[in-house]
Amino acid sequence: MNNENLQPLYVSSPMLPNIDDVTSYIQEIWDSKYVTNNGPMNQKFEKKLEEVLNVPTALTFNNGTIALLVALKMFNLKPGSEIITTPMTFAATAHAISWNGFVPVFADVLEKDLTIDPKAVEKAITKNTSAILATHVYGSICDYEALEDIAQKYGLKLIFDAAHAFAAEINGRSVASLGDASIFSFHATKLFNTLEGGALTSPNLKDKEIVQLLRNFGIKNEEEVTHVGINGKINEVQAAIGLLNLEIFEEERAKRKELREKYSSFLNDLPGITMQPNPKEFKNSEQYFPVVIDKEKFGRSRDEIYEALKKENIFARKYFHPICTDFEPYKGYDIVSTCATPYVEKVKHEVLCLPFHSGVKNSHINIIKSIFIGCKSTIMN
Ligand SMILES: *Cc1c(COP(=O)(O)O)cnc(C)c1O
Repeated sequence: MNNENLQPLYVSSPMLPNIDDVTSYIQEIWDSKYVTNNGPMNQKFEKKLEEVLNVPTALTFNNGTIALLVALKMFNLKPGSEIITTPMTFAATAHAISWNGFVPVFADVLEKDLTIDPKAVEKAITKNTSAILATHVYGSICDYEALEDIAQKYGLKLIFDAAHAFAAEINGRSVASLGDASIFSFHATKLFNTLEGGALTSPNLKDKEIVQLLRNFGIKNEEEVTHVGINGKINEVQAAIGLLNLEIFEEERAKRKELREKYSSFLNDLPGITMQPNPKEFKNSEQYFPVVIDKEKFGRSRDEIYEALKKENIFARKYFHPICTDFEPYKGYDIVSTCATPYVEKVKHEVLCLPFHSGVKNSHINIIKSIFIGCKSTIMN
């Protein structure tokens, strides 16, 4: 190990704006004494977000989970109805369904990119189904055309958890414009962050005010409270950091794109290692770099690679293992699949997210490479 690698390397590292720029914005906020409640910074930030995400409505939140809660609340879905979602996602996706009093119904994922399988979704529909909540997991975009068809055919709302897909585009369409609504997370671990934060976007929202009401306790005016709202407001310092990070996230994304190429250059040739597809018509958010490790073909398991990296102070993550149906509150929930055994039950033991940010140096890449190649040569000997 050289000195550089004595520092632990994590799967993500927050993109932070220049501190002097932050200080000067904070001075402005202090002078105005307008520190929260949809102040001037937030209004400017939302306008910029709508431009960057190329969507008519982008409303900010104090985190992505509250944005998810509101996205599920805003359509007045039938109380207690079923919402079809993926088990291969962060806990917040399933929890937002339960927290609203709905019932999560889990559908299997596709082998090609681990997004929800539209055929499994269709199979999971019952007379109680009211919506689909699909995650663009690792930044891979769901088969949105198939999901839009299904939603239309059965009269369901289609909501995307786009926490991993900030500023992604597919076939020239912004990811924020898909379905009825999308949510984003601006948590420090996400490509674009406001330390904590989030947003709700919609391509066709007739009544933007409903979201504004729901994120502010349902307070319409001094005399009236019209909705069961929550406190989803971002503060002015978060909004300022958002404005500054909007200036630099493309630079970070470009560095990660290069890193993707470097990783791919040696992983491509290894039997039993699969990477996410990254087709030409897709502008990747560059949020995560997952690999699927097939022990039979590769010779070593995901957990062995994970441990070998850890010995070098490199902390890859087994996202999203455990899957939602392994969590205490969802144990015993079925996973609807078109296969005899859901694919997700197999792949959860095989997927590993490698460190993926501009802090990953060539020396790190060499260590990671030697671990993967080394593992390969042991089976070839
Ligand atoms: C990060 C994340 C969230 C939650 O976002 P927070 O801003 O941390 O509340 C929701 N869904 C997915 C898929 C995420 O990765």
